[in-house]
Amino acid sequence: MRFSHLFGRTLRETPAEAELASHQLLLRAGMIRQLAAGIFSYLPLGWRVLAKIEQIMREEMDAIGCQEMKMPVVNPAEVWKATGRWQAPAPGPALLRFKDRTQHDMVLAMTHEEVVAQLLASEISSYRQLPVMIYHIQTKFRDEPRSRGGLIRVREFTMKDAYSAHATYESLDEFYPQIYHAYERIFARCGVKTFSVEADTGIMGGAVSHEFMAISEVGEDTLIFCPACGYAANAEKATFVIAALPEEAELSVEEVATPGMKSIEQVAGYLGVPTNKTYKAVFYTTSAGEVVFAVIRGDLEVNETKLSNALGGVELRPATEEELQKAGIVAGYASPIGVNGVRVIADKSLTSGHNFVAGANKEGYHLKNVNYPRDFAAEIVADIALARSGDTCARCGQPLVAERGIEAGHVFKLGTKYSAAVGATFLDSDGQSKPIIMGSYGIGTGRLMSIIVEQHHDDKGIIWPVSVAPYQIHLLHIGADPEVTAAAAAFYGELRAAGYEVLYDDRDDVTAGVKFNDADLIGVPLRFTISARTMKAGVVEVKHRWAKAVQTVPLAEIRDRIPALLAEEPAA
Ligand SMILES: [Zn+2]
Repeated sequence: MRFSHLFGRTLRETPAEAELASHQLLLRAGMIRQLAAGIFSYLPLGWRVLAKIEQIMREEMDAIGCQEMKMPVVNPAEVWKATGRWQAPAPGPALLRFKDRTQHDMVLAMTHEEVVAQLLASEISSYRQLPVMIYHIQTKFRDEPRSRGGLIRVREFTMKDAYSAHATYESLDEFYPQIYHAYERIFARCGVKTFSVEADTGIMGGAVSHEFMAISEVGEDTLIFCPACGYAANAEKATFVIAALPEEAELSVEEVATPGMKSIEQVAGYLGVPTNKTYKAVFYTTSAGEVVFAVIRGDLEVNETKLSNALGGVELRPATEEELQKAGIVAGYASPIGVNGVRVIADKSLTSGHNFVAGANKEGYHLKNVNYPRDFAAEIVADIALARSGDTCARCGQPLVAERGIEAGHVFKLGTKYSAAVGATFLDSDGQSKPIIMGSYGIGTGRLMSIIVEQHHDDKGIIWPVSVAPYQIHLLHIGADPEVTAAAAAFYGELRAAGYEVLYDDRDDVTAGVKFNDADLIGVPLRFTISARTMKAGVVEVKHRWAKAVQTVPLAEIRDRIPALLAEEPAA
């Protein structure tokens, strides 16, 4: 491709709307353009990258026996209407919670599973046809009020989603690691570092799923790791060890004045006790309008997802002052003692230690020496505590570390939820009709492109891995000397004839500096420069985008050296 013909121009200034490095660089490098909030066009350079990503996905899917097909772009509401048998999930807690956390999952759950189940119902009749694995690369839409971050959070996007259908759970269990490893290979081939975490599975009622997370400071999920033993989990699910408190004799409850002291830190400081000898009260309201009273040790935080799961997956939101008043609770001084008509959920941390400080449910007063279960009852005792950096690993006892991450992909053992809903059954070897067991697996293609850029860039631009770079070679000539431009054009023709993908900056109306800056911004792995000086010496100047050093290679040798030069790419 001659640069002078290339559709899409590079931008010198960083567009104001772009916050993330990937968003800024993809815009500046002329890879994508925003049409409307969360809706992008891929310009030719970006489209080439996307096509390479998709090709890697195809190769890895095909390698494990998945068959490519194409399902229509569907609006879930239309599918529900058309089938008449599928009921839209009630806007329940799990769904909304999922929507808040990882938009991907919600979309996975709401776009093509229904279509696949319909297809299975029409195509599969016998256990002899199972297992079967299909995939497609398709555009999807979602209502994304917070679209930002370039290709990471968008309203229209493309996803490679795969589905497997099985006669038995054993068969699904056998396939699951195959696609899991195929996903690992896809990310590795795209130069993306990911690790997998077992995901929160509230939405599927206990289904097994894993998220592939790419570590990135711009990630929207918090991940908890143990560098010592390799434990990794989403913060919403991560477990940790809560240090036990020493045994001591339980004393009588005593009311103390704590004027104006509302926060745990204020009360603990005022009474001279550590925060881990206090109870923290946190209030939520369910979608049914019921107030839930969560009690946790004062040095810990409530994890809303764990709390919701402990309550059977109900939707929760912070309770309002008005709701607390109505329930007879005095905000800032709330007490689990003597509350009526409010569900009390206790964190496991309450089962260790004695003589805690709790609210007195009276403005300006707290209680000392509160003991569970002596002084109050909890309907449920569960792990509802949020894991944080520095907490103790439940596996090995070493400190945990928190990092931000972006979900890059997801694998799900769905079970029979969708097949049962549309009557997708098969006749088993025992003559019984049974619902088909399904798995669902997805990777967003544009999102993956963004993640690659997040992980592969510097202050000058993108540094594409060779596997997905829009071109392998960025050729440019310096100056407008007709001899030089003729030599560069001839070299361009030779490289193309040899089968290389070459972006040739043939512009005569810009400076060498502009050309070098554009080359760095676009991020093609190899840069070849031809000038009057290199011609005189019979060499080509060669620079790897990922390296600082410039080397010269004799013109006579360059073509044979290219495979080795591309192979010098450092491991991701
Ligand atoms: Zn550990």
